[in-house]
Parts: sequence; structure tokens; C-alpha cells
Amino acid sequence: MSRVMSVAELTTLVVSVFERHGTSPENARHVAAVVVAAERDGSRSHGLFRMPGYVSTLKSGWVDGRAVSVVKDAAPGLVAVDAANGFAQAALAAGTPLLLEKARSHGIAAIAIRNSHHFAALWPDVEGFAEAGLFALALANTRSRVAPWGAKRKFLGTNPMAFACPRPGREPLVWDQASAMVAHGEILLAAKQGHPLPDHTGLDAKGNPTSDARAILDDGAILPFGGHKGASIAFLVEILAGALTGGNFGYEDRSAAFPGAMTSNAGECVILIDPSRTGGAVDARLAGLFEQLAAAGVERLPGDLRYARRRRSLAEGIAVPDETYETVRRLASG
Ligand code: NDP
Repeated sequence: MSRVMSVAELTTLVVSVFERHGTSPENARHVAAVVVAAERDGSRSHGLFRMPGYVSTLKSGWVDGRAVSVVKDAAPGLVAVDAANGFAQAALAAGTPLLLEKARSHGIAAIAIRNSHHFAALWPDVEGFAEAGLFALALANTRSRVAPWGAKRKFLGTNPMAFACPRPGREPLVWDQASAMVAHGEILLAAKQGHPLPDHTGLDAKGNPTSDARAILDDGAILPFGGHKGASIAFLVEILAGALTGGNFGYEDRSAAFPGAMTSNAGECVILIDPSRTGGAVDARLAGLFEQLAAAGVERLPGDLRYARRRRSLAEGIAVPDETYETVRRLASG
């Protein structure tokens, strides 16, 4: 059984949970927006399912819900943000006005966020930029969960990467994917619901291949997607989101000292390019590209399923399972 809620109702509920557990109203608004957006779009592993994890993290003292980000104009094309141990979404929001100004005036700009906590889907960090006509690439590193190619234990993060670009006449094209075979949230869901994972998803604590979610979670590791090539992407994310920003690497995780801490205290990098500045008639080129893709038989592009679910949620409301609703409601009151 489930109840149907509007985006506004769900947002009010989720904001109240964050505020109840020590998050400032402004930060609560930014983090709640990505949780609700994920639930609305059917990205269930990063929607309401994450709320107990957010709350246990806030209770543990690992993240500062009241953090105020410090935004620095670091170079003509670079914004540097110290998230002050707060949520990455709040830090990105704080740096966005300057980032946009730089991307528009220089044609390209990046934001380097450090000391931040990302626990959400990454696509909300790029979609809005593409709606504003820009190309956007976001990379976030996370605590160690993935074995580098050839290693027997976890070292790199699940390190998601998201890309968005305008799509003439439609919503932006957006893809968003972990560098791991399967995102950690999906492994948690599989362990909770007892359903199997694809073959060769991970390694157990002894470094043996396994598709058992519990064995992976019990000091095992997830494998990178696409073998050695995916491992290189995970490494790229670690470098751009961790080294470039001054954020922590996955292996520098100190969360064990904070029982209940679920988020990763690491970094995020977002790069924006203004396609109108190249003089290459990019809109027309993109329109042709999407037409040719369709002609080649591509019926579903990344993000299309999410948009379809979004349209349905906006028309009919978001169906929230009763058990999930009760969990979140309890978090709002205690
Ligand atoms: P998926 O493998 O489910 O999807 C990856 C991308 O591929 C999506 O853009 C999806 O679009 C697209 N896609 C999937 N199937 C198809 C298909 N048949 N044809 C075309 N496109 C397709 O994502 P992951 O499991 O890798 O990641 C899930 C989420 O976890 C992401 O949102 C990621 O940001 C998040 N994450 C967050 C972390 C954090 O610490 N904050 C860490 C790691 C991951 P569509 O959505 O339309 O299906």
C-alpha cells in the first residue's frame, strides 16, 4: 500500500526531518530538494530510502547541518568552495552565482568544492545548468568502496559522474552514473530486500568474486564498471573531485569514529562550458546529432526513463510506500 503525495507535501516533510535533526533551514532546503527530486523521478536508491542515513549521520556529528560554505573567487575561471563540513548541495548553491558569471564571461569555468558531504544522486547538480543552456560535467568522490583494477580490496570511491547538455525542443540530455558496477545504494537495497546482484559485482572480504550484497558490504569491495576502463574513470573522479579540490580521498575516510555516519566527506568538481561561445552553431549540431541517433534506432537515451517517471509523478503525484512514509514521519518527530 502507498499514499500519493505532491512534490510540495513531500518537500515539507523532508525539510522538517532535516531541520528536526540540526540542519539550518537554508541547508535543509537544498538537501531536501535532491531527495525529493530523486523520489519524484524514481531514483529510489537516493530518495526517501536515504533519510535514515541522513539522520544517523547528522546525529553522529560527522556532518554539520548548519555549515556555512566559504566561497572564494580563486581564478578567472575557477571558484573554490570550502563546504565547512556541510552538505555538497548547499556548497554548490552558494558558489553557483559566481560560477555562472564566470562560465558566461569566459566560456568555461569550474567549481572545486572540498570538505563536503555528498549522499545523493548527482544529476540534480548538472540538470539545471543545461536548462540554462550550458554543458555541465560533475564529478564527486566518495569513501572507499571500489577495488581498483587488479586490487583485492576497496580503495576508490563509487565516484559518480554526471553530464548534462541542452537538447533542442526537449529536456536536457542527462546521464549520471557511478564508476562502480553498481551504486552502493543499490547494494544496500539488494541486501535489505534480499534480491541478487549481477554476476561479478564485487569481491568478498578475502578478495574472492561475489554477487552477494551482504558479502560486499561486510568489508568486501564493489568492482568498477567496465573492468580496467571503468577503474580509470573512478581514478579520474578521485583526482578531479579529491585532489584538485583539496577534498579528502576515499581512503582518508574518518567516519568510523562517528558511529552512524553514512555520508562521504570528500569533494566535488563541476565544470561548465557555454556552447554559445564556440561559434560552432552547437544547437543545430546537437539537433542533428539527436535526430541521427533516433534514426539509428536509439529509442531511449540516458535520463529518458527518469523524465518519464517525473512526468507521471507531476501528473499523478508521488506514490510513497506506507512503510517508507511511516519511517520518514517518525524521523520528523523524533
Ligand atoms: P544506473 O546504472 O542506474 O544509470 C546510469 C545512467 O544510465 C543513467 O543516466 C540512466 O538513465 C542511464 N541508463 C540506464 N539504463 C539505460 C538504458 N537501457 N538506455 C539508456 N540509458 C540508460 O546508475 P548507477 O547505478 O551507476 O548510479 C545510480 C545513482 O547513484 C546515480 O544517480 C549516482 O549519482 C548515484 N551515486 C551517488 C553517490 C554518492 O555518494 N552521492 C555514489 C555513487 C552513485 P535513466 O536514469 O533515465 O535510467
